[in-house]
Amino acid sequence: MSYFDLTGKVAVVTGAGRGLGEAIALGLAQAGADVAFVTNRTPADKGVAAAEALGRKAISIQADVSDRSALPGIIDRTIEAFGRIDILVNNAGIIRRTPAADHSYEDWQEVIDVNLNSVFVLSQLAGKHMIEQGSGKIINIASMLSYQGGINVPGYTSSKHAVAGLTKALASEWASKGVQVNAIAPGYMSTDNTEALREDPVRSTQILQRIPAGRWGTSEDLAGPAVFLASQASDYMNGHILAVDGGWLVR
Ligand code: NAP
Repeated sequence: MSYFDLTGKVAVVTGAGRGLGEAIALGLAQAGADVAFVTNRTPADKGVAAAEALGRKAISIQADVSDRSALPGIIDRTIEAFGRIDILVNNAGIIRRTPAADHSYEDWQEVIDVNLNSVFVLSQLAGKHMIEQGSGKIINIASMLSYQGGINVPGYTSSKHAVAGLTKALASEWASKGVQVNAIAPGYMSTDNTEALREDPVRSTQILQRIPAGRWGTSEDLAGPAVFLASQASDYMNGHILAVDGGWLVR
């Protein structure tokens, strides 16, 4: 399926040491891409070894994406290692659960820094390179809370609404330059991010009952959609938010 072939492409994936980011990075590697695994606290040794076992080149870059000064190094290091960047997946994200009335400013700020500010700055840095190159794919990880209000997560919801808006803003400017910017909005996926929900018997039952597919998503459920948005198959898609949610939004 040459439409989905990523041979010779270079991908940068943030938050690639675990959860959705690791599965996306390995999906891109399976489709042929060389990958820079960006992680903060979780080593990417496992992912790098798995990508290399597939015959790809892979590097690990340690960076705290909430530190703006660390972001140019991610792009520079990738270009130094691979000579180019074709795909950027802005996946790193955090959630802080406290009712809005008690939500601390520190939690708000931290969530906005990781989930939104890093997405803007990394997209800008990679985008400049992609515009010069005349091609590139940026995939932002949005959320069901890019559409809905959620419960006790005002910072997270605000950040994910803004990620959807930023995706459209960048897509609108860069479509004519050969750079496609799109997003994936995962539904309720079984990762560390949703552990508190799955451990709450009331919330976990409510959530499961609302998912038409009848199960929580897995990290691997995102690999195919990410390959699609990273590949030639989606060349005429710009600013689209692709829900991968087991049908959550249609119920
Ligand atoms: P997760 O298992 O909690 O993993 C979070 C990832 O973000 C980790 O790889 C972590 O890296 C990285 N990260 C956090 N803070 C960072 C920082 N300051 N600098 C660099 N990396 C940082 O979460 P996940 O479920 O895989 O979530 C991945 C993305 O999907 C997030 O944007 C999340 O909002 C979004 N999402 C998840 C769900 C879901 O149901 N799970 C639904 C919708 C959207 P380290 O471990 O190296 O710190």
